[in-house]
Amino acid sequence: MRVLFVSSEVSPFSKTGGLADVSGALPGALVRAGADVRVVTPLYRGVREGGWALEPAGVCEVPGPAGGEVATVFSATLPSGPQVWFVDHPRYFDRPGLYGERGQDYPDNLERFSFFCRAVLGWIRTCGWQPDLVHCNDWQAALVPVYMRTVEASHWDRVGTVLTVHNLAYQGLFGADQFPGLGLPPDLFSPRYLEFWGRVNVLKGGLVFADVLTTVSETYAREIQTEEFGCGLEGVLRERSADLYGILNGADYSVWDPRHDPHIPARYGPEDLSGKAVCKAALQREMGLRADADVLLFGMVSRLVEQKGVDLVVACVDRMVQAGAQLAVLGTGDPKLEAALLRAAEAHPGAVGVRIGFDERLAHWIEAGSDAFLMPSRYEPSGLNQLYSLRYGTVPVVRRTGGLADSVVDATPEALARGEANGFVFEAYSPDALWEAVARALATYRDRETWLRLVRSGMAADFSWDRAAGRYVELYRLAVAKRRAVPS
Ligand code: ADP
Repeated sequence: MRVLFVSSEVSPFSKTGGLADVSGALPGALVRAGADVRVVTPLYRGVREGGWALEPAGVCEVPGPAGGEVATVFSATLPSGPQVWFVDHPRYFDRPGLYGERGQDYPDNLERFSFFCRAVLGWIRTCGWQPDLVHCNDWQAALVPVYMRTVEASHWDRVGTVLTVHNLAYQGLFGADQFPGLGLPPDLFSPRYLEFWGRVNVLKGGLVFADVLTTVSETYAREIQTEEFGCGLEGVLRERSADLYGILNGADYSVWDPRHDPHIPARYGPEDLSGKAVCKAALQREMGLRADADVLLFGMVSRLVEQKGVDLVVACVDRMVQAGAQLAVLGTGDPKLEAALLRAAEAHPGAVGVRIGFDERLAHWIEAGSDAFLMPSRYEPSGLNQLYSLRYGTVPVVRRTGGLADSVVDATPEALARGEANGFVFEAYSPDALWEAVARALATYRDRETWLRLVRSGMAADFSWDRAAGRYVELYRLAVAKRRAVPS
């Protein structure tokens, strides 16, 4: 099975969120599962200037509505093994941001990523390596199956396609005036295909044309077929429900494991947690929190956007501090949420520490140094931080949605008795419901033995990528078989 994995961000080269972690780790796990995998992604300025060993791989023609262009392709290797191709086009990708700057999307994102998708196909027509299956991720790669089944249909009729939705809220919506720039037949701008209430919806095109659809947890696969979570695409998803699968993301334990994490002040494992106490003391110093081994320190690392439930945390922070807890937050995003968190830190010196920014090292420190981890998300397709938290013995406190529901087992007396509990789960999206879970965590924390049972049960869980990779390979086979069953 030869698989081309198409993604707009790939850790450690480029990252704004979980997609990068997935794209950095899943391809390596697919290789271990027996697939021959290549990854393709844009060459952003940050990659060019990142000191990576990039080798020129070749050039390819990129057909387009305004005549042909040329893209240069460079190559490097992922730490997990597979080769990565970087599509270079200075006008589109030599910029400070991946998708925008200072919270503003680049206005030509459709042009940038439709070029990327056409360049991906141009490159695999040229490079001498032909995939059996193309695995596309999110709207930035969703035009690949659209081109493969329309303007380039005759060329790709034996190549299967899988599209994975990492977050349905990001659909790639653009004005109708930009449709002609895609070089697609005009009749595709209709509600059956790429039109969405008078605009171009790129993800919708991918959802219509890909052979198999996946999303990043079983619960989210069900949720997105409902009006509440479907972001207007629930109808399209319900129509394709027989081809839609949920596979929970994995955690990359070569990067996220306290036993060998080079970022954290002391290493530890389930058999000896003394290093975790060292990490907690270091985190308290780093975040300006009172040095105290016995308080319950809650951590949070998150994009600060509405999705993540930051408003609930802000609404609960006074109660948390009054109850004797500490809070350490790292994040960046919506200026209003950033300001609200900074105000909370100002109001509670020594008890609440907030760092605005993107800081890989501090993210590891918070995972290791906190006792519990907050993820009160409105919705959460998969979530990675709760998986990392489990491995770091940092008990997750989460809302029951998406991948959080599929990975965290609430510490009810029954689940504790069965040895299955690994965190605290609440239902309603409200400050009181979050507070109720936080209060249960505080009460349990005072019962050292029960708390350690939760910690150890989380640390023993296996959410490695190898489990997920096996399921992806099964779906690749299915997609290829479906495709090859279609008469040319
Ligand atoms: P999402 O993809 O919605 O942002 P996930 O939980 O799936 O959420 O993945 C988030 C990833 O991004 C994790 O690896 C997390 O540690 C990282 N991350 C998010 N915000 C920051 C930040 N401010 N600094 C460092 N890492 C961050």
